Amino acid sequence: MNKESEQKIRYIFQKQKAFFKTNQTKDIEFRKAQLRHFRTVFVNYTDALCEALDIDLGKSRKEAEYVEIQIVLSELDYLLENIDAWAVPTPVESKPHPSGAKVVSKIMYEPYGVNYIIGPFNYPVQLTFSPLIGALIAGNTAIIKPSENTPHVAQVLENIVKESFDESYVAVVQGAIEENTLLLSLPFDYIFFTGSPNVGKIVMKAAAEQLIPLTLELGGKSPTIVHSDADLDKAVARISYGKWINCGQTCVAPDYIYVHESVKEDFIKKFKAYLKESYPDGSLGKIGKIVNKQQIKNLAGYLEAAPEKIVYGGRYDPETRHFEATLMDQVNWDDKVMQQEIFGPILPVMAYSDINEALEEINNRPKPLALYVFTENQEFAQDVLNRTTSGDAEINSAIIHVGSHYLPFGGVGTSGMGKYHGKFSFENFSHSRSVLQVI
Ligand code: NAD
Repeated sequence: MNKESEQKIRYIFQKQKAFFKTNQTKDIEFRKAQLRHFRTVFVNYTDALCEALDIDLGKSRKEAEYVEIQIVLSELDYLLENIDAWAVPTPVESKPHPSGAKVVSKIMYEPYGVNYIIGPFNYPVQLTFSPLIGALIAGNTAIIKPSENTPHVAQVLENIVKESFDESYVAVVQGAIEENTLLLSLPFDYIFFTGSPNVGKIVMKAAAEQLIPLTLELGGKSPTIVHSDADLDKAVARISYGKWINCGQTCVAPDYIYVHESVKEDFIKKFKAYLKESYPDGSLGKIGKIVNKQQIKNLAGYLEAAPEKIVYGGRYDPETRHFEATLMDQVNWDDKVMQQEIFGPILPVMAYSDINEALEEINNRPKPLALYVFTENQEFAQDVLNRTTSGDAEINSAIIHVGSHYLPFGGVGTSGMGKYHGKFSFENFSHSRSVLQVI
């Protein structure tokens, strides 16, 4: 990074600090007007966003509109509809004052100030703009750093932001580690990071240096349990949707399957038939692109370590960055594919005979971002939830919870800290300030 870029970053940061001090963002009407204008600009950029998402990640227009654009728009409408009610201070009960005087108490919701939002590559629009609208609805200003791994999308995001906002309110800084390191040294008032647990540690260390509050949206290996009484057809279709979308590069994708041994053969048979029907000529090139050649190499490494375990798919092309939907059977915890989050379209299948042992294996590992259980037995499902933990969970479904602005979304432990979406975004980006008044 040259001196000029560094100075520009510091200049924008100082401008945002100064703008926040004017208290203009404390006005709810200001927030609403800014976000309404952003909405119009964002919609106008639909074509440009879809084109960039196709180049960077091979996303189809339908997928791009649904999981990147519509999710942001529906959440934004929900925030705009409800902000007036949420922003009102909440009166609470009071304890008597020692003097006997009357006391009233309330909770005020105030913005933190200048926010730093760091985005990942996999859903580069949704995972950058969803935190942004949460930060703005709560009255903050923001600097955004999109992922350098999806450069075409990053450029469109910058264009949208430039056309929507003054840089003293919202600005995009492009860059990678160097720029991020500089930004993390600045005294932001809040940091919102989405990415891998390893970089999450770097971000949290930097935040700790200045005691900056933060949210970490991280990842991990999300388990999927398919019990003996599950509706296998539904399980296959729903797991398929959650796993192959975005070529497996989804933080909440089912990472691996734990299926009851009594139905494992049937499950694999149905899975193969479903794949064959969905992609008669194979799925290569039909489910999106892997972000770069290095990640293709990592994924290929999982297959090369145990080629005999591939029971469906397995082809890839580093030049086009395509990777086929791939099933692996007879997998165990020692396999290379089970050592870290896969983040690609490889689905390892393991069998269990005793659910207690399966849950123990899951619980011995880092806390996952999501956990899915497929069963027709509500008690079994609840028991699994009671005896495990994960950021969030679904019963008889996968990855859909991320799109609901009625549910708080986020991880726990190594899969993250802090929750957002809908009202939870407003709360996440607001400081709850207790106010006690003696009358
Ligand atoms: P990443 O951690 O590699 O990168 C995220 C951001 O961190 C990028 O903007 C990048 O520029 C920056 N960065 C990378 N290395 C850095 C370093 N050494 N120092 C400072 N900054 C650095 O993540 P990714 O590859 O973009 O995304 C994949 C990961 O993100 C997966 O683990 C996935 O599970 C997770 N993820 C989580 C969520 C969620 O909402 N919880 C959503 C999407 C992705």
